[in-house]
Amino acid sequence: MPGSTMPTMLFYQVAVPSPLRRLFDYLPPVDNLSTQDKTTDHGRTDSGPTLQPGIRVKVPFGKQTVIGIVVASKGCSSFDVSKLKPIEAVLDDTPLFSPVLFELLQWAARYYQHPLGEVLTSALPTLLRKGGTLPQQSYWRLSTHGKGLPGDALPRAPRQQALLQLLQQNKVLTSDAIKSAGVSSATLRTLKSKALIETFTTVMPGQNQANNDQDILAEAALTLSADQQVAFDQIEPHGYQTYLLDGETGSGKTEIYLQAIAKTLRYSRQALVLIPEINLTPQTLARFRARFNCPIALIHSGLSERERLQAWWAASTGSAGIIIGTRSAAFVAMKSPGIIIVDEEHDSSFKQQEGFRYSARDVAVVRAHREQIPLLLGSATPSLESLYNGEQGRYRHLLIKGRHGGAVQAQWQLVDIREAQLNTGFSQAVISAIGDQLTQGNQVLVFLNRRGFAPTLMCHDCGWVANCRHCDAHLTVHTSKPGLHCHHCEARQPLPARCPDCNSSQLNYLGQGTERSEATLQALFPNARVIRVDKDSTRNKHAMKTVLEEIHKNQPCILVGTQMLAKGHHFPCVTLVVVLDADTSLFSTDFRALERMGQLLTQVAGRAGRSAKSGKVMIQSHHCEHPVFELLSQHGYAQFAQHILRERQFSTMPPYSNAALIRADAIQADAALGLLQQVREHAETLSSSRPSLRYLGPFPAAMEKRGGRYRYQLTIFSEERAVLHHLLDNLSQWLERHKSSRKVRWSIDVDPQDTI
Ligand code: ADP
Ligand code: ZN
Ligand code: ZN
Repeated sequence: MPGSTMPTMLFYQVAVPSPLRRLFDYLPPVDNLSTQDKTTDHGRTDSGPTLQPGIRVKVPFGKQTVIGIVVASKGCSSFDVSKLKPIEAVLDDTPLFSPVLFELLQWAARYYQHPLGEVLTSALPTLLRKGGTLPQQSYWRLSTHGKGLPGDALPRAPRQQALLQLLQQNKVLTSDAIKSAGVSSATLRTLKSKALIETFTTVMPGQNQANNDQDILAEAALTLSADQQVAFDQIEPHGYQTYLLDGETGSGKTEIYLQAIAKTLRYSRQALVLIPEINLTPQTLARFRARFNCPIALIHSGLSERERLQAWWAASTGSAGIIIGTRSAAFVAMKSPGIIIVDEEHDSSFKQQEGFRYSARDVAVVRAHREQIPLLLGSATPSLESLYNGEQGRYRHLLIKGRHGGAVQAQWQLVDIREAQLNTGFSQAVISAIGDQLTQGNQVLVFLNRRGFAPTLMCHDCGWVANCRHCDAHLTVHTSKPGLHCHHCEARQPLPARCPDCNSSQLNYLGQGTERSEATLQALFPNARVIRVDKDSTRNKHAMKTVLEEIHKNQPCILVGTQMLAKGHHFPCVTLVVVLDADTSLFSTDFRALERMGQLLTQVAGRAGRSAKSGKVMIQSHHCEHPVFELLSQHGYAQFAQHILRERQFSTMPPYSNAALIRADAIQADAALGLLQQVREHAETLSSSRPSLRYLGPFPAAMEKRGGRYRYQLTIFSEERAVLHHLLDNLSQWLERHKSSRKVRWSIDVDPQDTI
């Protein structure tokens, strides 16, 4: 202990990106020698400025050199000091994370049982992970003086005039954007010296210095409706509180976000907005851009590494007043956070399903609490967790009733398709309803959650079915890019002309996906425009934008697509929504399947009749009498949610208990199953005195073989979160040490979303 080393020794605990759940000790960097004089027995110095937690360092790790992050310093090491190596280089002067964010990341690593090194690095843009330097970026805008000038000012200096006009058009631009528009730094300097332009950051240097409305707002806010105002007035701008903003699509939630953000910006704080998918919501982004003057940083997976670094930098320095991002933005560094908003909080894409399996929504709750700022969770179909937290008084439930401007709620119709004659999946009732709407000049949305042409290819003569060699799954027939695809491991094969078993040419397509429905609809309505929207049709970067533009021409058309169509869009001319097959979720073994189905159907239905036109939803099912359909169609999502929440309570499922899923997969089925059996035995001996723990499994995963590996899972439930986490701490340590786990890939999923 302390006495075993020289009293002046200093050690750094560094988190490196490694799957090991521990920190590594390093000696101070050698080149700190320079001006300092305190020498240790190794001829090194431990002085120089002590490295602060949150600084990147280059360290030797095994045979490599990696970028790690200093977590702490200490006066002694439990390792053999003579074997410790010095830090090779220090990459930052100041920490990349605020103390609160740094603690949040450490909490997340513990809570989600993930190695800290990977958690910390995942919170950084790739360029910084690789050791890149911080950008020197600034935002520019016209000064008050510059704003007073007409567009044709400075006629004798065309380059300066061009820059003036550029900023008149764009309000705020980064120095990079200005440079790439062909403006030289000399021109920039000249206009700055003439005090016509100025650099701009949303977070003012002095504290409590308020921004004024001209600086913040580009357009006036709308006057809130009485319902909106009641909800808005309850949102306290200071201190922690989570608000569940519960209002159907079109009820005006986004307007409340915008006004809450304006309030935050007024006192020089930043707003973080998390959304499920950035490409799906160009309209929302356009509304943010139209409303605010301040720089908005976008953080999502579609950015280049450099763009990502710049967005992160704008957030972390406070230049960007608003940060809009997908899941990973939950951990973005912010200079001065003032509010967090999670839109569509029920959306399962907030949960990362591999590696570091965190829920961005739940992280946002913890972050808001630690930052002591408000959090808005908005949804037309709140998750059962959030509704439960509302009931428990942990969240404040704010209900906005009705649609803005009085647009009427869509009317639901269940179409019983038992024994019905279907035309490749379409009932006669649906076909004539689509025809009626098209004749009236309206748009129709046909929803089915399966892409491709047909989910199964079968030989009519011998019954052969095209299966994936690596998975327990059929290959899906695709015709737009012809071939057989496995949707689980991405394996691809050409479409066979003949059965490989009996050489027959009688190959049948069974079932339907979006491509087939598109073809069917086109054949039924040869004069109509049919637009397919799914992962395949929108793979191209700008495809989704083009599709949305097409839809917003408001010409009659049929949209056919997957749940991509259900999320957050505003399609004012859609008057009929058709759900082709609502039955698959009714009998799933995933305890969340019904909740998801209710959310999806309500969201899809929310696409119909959002403006002056009223809408109708037709749902085809073989089980029209199922109580959930009656609840959803007659009483709405709120009562439906109450009903399944009571079911969860009755069976003590989440949110009435806490769950963790331990998954294992291996090339040898026995190895994976055996490991989980041992985990369970070990867990039971560890906590035999804890009756609150329940185990389910190990069982084969719903798809036992996938990508050539056999998959098993063990679920652990506990009504006491601390008990579950204590056990998981133990199990992850045990798994890490356990020999047989080398052959087996394992993972721990806390608060799992997919439980099959
Ligand atoms: P949500 O986010 O709940 O779907 P929005 O905020 O997008 O709802 O509002 C739906 C539509 O109603 C939008 O076109 C929006 O501009 C309009 N709207 C919302 N609030 C108001 C208001 N107070 N006054 C006028 N129009 C409003
Ligand atoms: Zn055959
Ligand atoms: Zn496969």
